[in-house]
Amino acid sequence: MEMNTTRALSSVHRAANVARLADQTFDLIIIGGGITGAGIALDAASRGLSTVLFEKQDFAAGTSSRSTKLIHGGLRYLKQLEVSLVREVGLERATLYQNAPHIVRPKKMLLPIIKEGSLGKYSTSMALSVYDYLASVARSERRSMHDRETTLAFEPLLRSEIVEGGGLYWEYQTDDARLTIEVLKTAANYGAQAFNYTEIQDFIYSKNKVIGVKAFDHIQANGFNVYGKKIVNAAGPWVDDLRKKDNSLKGKYLHLTKGVHIVVPYERLPLKQAVYFDVYNDKRMMFAIPKGNITYLGTTDTTYTDQIERPQATLGDVQYILKGTNYMFPEVDLTLKDVQSSWAGLRPLIHAEGKSPSELSRKDELFHSKSGLISIAGGKLTGFRKMAERAVDVVVKELFKESRRTIKECITDNIVIGGGKFKSPKAIPDYIDQVTQEYSELGIQKEQVAHLVYKYGRYTKTILSIFEDVQQKRTDITLTKQLLLAELQYGVQHEMVTSICDFLIRRTGRLYFQRPDIEGENMQSFILKEIAQLLPLSPQKQKEYLSDFEEEFNAVVNF
Ligand code: FAD
Repeated sequence: MEMNTTRALSSVHRAANVARLADQTFDLIIIGGGITGAGIALDAASRGLSTVLFEKQDFAAGTSSRSTKLIHGGLRYLKQLEVSLVREVGLERATLYQNAPHIVRPKKMLLPIIKEGSLGKYSTSMALSVYDYLASVARSERRSMHDRETTLAFEPLLRSEIVEGGGLYWEYQTDDARLTIEVLKTAANYGAQAFNYTEIQDFIYSKNKVIGVKAFDHIQANGFNVYGKKIVNAAGPWVDDLRKKDNSLKGKYLHLTKGVHIVVPYERLPLKQAVYFDVYNDKRMMFAIPKGNITYLGTTDTTYTDQIERPQATLGDVQYILKGTNYMFPEVDLTLKDVQSSWAGLRPLIHAEGKSPSELSRKDELFHSKSGLISIAGGKLTGFRKMAERAVDVVVKELFKESRRTIKECITDNIVIGGGKFKSPKAIPDYIDQVTQEYSELGIQKEQVAHLVYKYGRYTKTILSIFEDVQQKRTDITLTKQLLLAELQYGVQHEMVTSICDFLIRRTGRLYFQRPDIEGENMQSFILKEIAQLLPLSPQKQKEYLSDFEEEFNAVVNF
């Protein structure tokens, strides 16, 4: 069942890989290719289980490309006294930083203390030091408390008349969709197989026990059956749909809440560091996070009952964020015209009677159905490794009970994720210098190398060797386009890119963070043409991919 791992996530070999699946039996079938499913695939495969994962859209197209993109201990959960949650995700943050330093990067965060704000001077100081303690925060990254003048010097754009002081602490920024794909690539190195655009439409039972799934490959319009000794439902916001299919939607159920982020040009909100601030007249807080040429802001938290695929920001969501931001940073006066992109995500939370969206717990839960289906929901991006460990522990226990098979314990705390093999995070700048020098003859700049390294880590060199080849063959296009093409080829060959959306939204985040560049260079047509040369794409599919992308491109600014 093992396959050449370099081919496992190649769109070029996808059809052949799918063809081999029909009627196979795996130890574990995972439904859902968000961070939860990806984490489970890595955990299971690294313990030696034969594992296959199915994702009905693209990997991370659900919630896992739509978060605030922070690997954090969840300071605000301390207010809800979720001490064990804060401790677990806080410790996970340190593990992730060690295992994936190329995509998990420290970011200084300012927490202004304001008049009548949700946190007072002493409670902020106390909360931040409890946070430091629980999450075993490194000495150099412990919180510091500051008076009004210093806080305003840190961030002169703050509404000065309400600021009483501030706390400085560290959060970690990531790219959720890239983290998901890097975890999947690592799982593939351990023998897991993963397929995007393959939907699980039904379960197969024998004697009332679930023994397999009916899968449908949307790319080749082809249905097939796959069998699994264990089946885990990690479908995020869709978890209850599958529990319903399994006739096991009883007891606890999901409560979806929508969270929106908007993106404005950095020069319109030129913050000196990220800020976590009170929303005026609401008992919530919001993030403002600078990232390269943009600053992103969010989020909202409202109960959601509409269709689950492709949630969008509404005018009300955007106005709420703009109003909250303009109050806290009065000089900037952001308007709808400043919004150059946005995204909306659905939190798959566990319902609790009488609690508002923001009060619902972010803890994960496992549901065990009589048929044997194991479902997992809730939780956070940050805690995905521990969630996976808990789910696979159940799988392992059951396999032992049923067949006396002993399987080793979780080892993922020591597994480097994707291209993250660096002695320490501090080694990354040296690596960037070294690669820039190595490829200097190709005319590539340090900034371009750094951009790749903070996405692909050590796989940057694979991309640059493709780039070398592209440069020789494609003298008709600019260096920027040659580099884009190399990145795209890498995506198609190693990260299962099949469409414009896969590449410009999930693999590279360009729709969110560099939308004006896409427009300026008519990037979508260039990309489509190139994908069509790498893969067999029917004219019908090409049309479909282009219109899918145009729809997304417009939706992110259409409120
Ligand atoms: P998803 O990513 O939704 O994955 C489930 C997948 O299952 C989907 O891709 C879906 O297409 C697939 N699927 C569904 N049905 C089927 C089927 N029948 N067959 C095959 N596939 C199927 N966490 C943090 O740690 N830090 C943050 O900063 C943070 N910010 C957030 C901000 C917002 C606005 C939101 C909404 C969440 C945030 N979170 C954050 C939480 C975090 O994003 C989620 O907990 C996490 O992404 C959930 O991942 P998942 O894999 O469970 O779900």
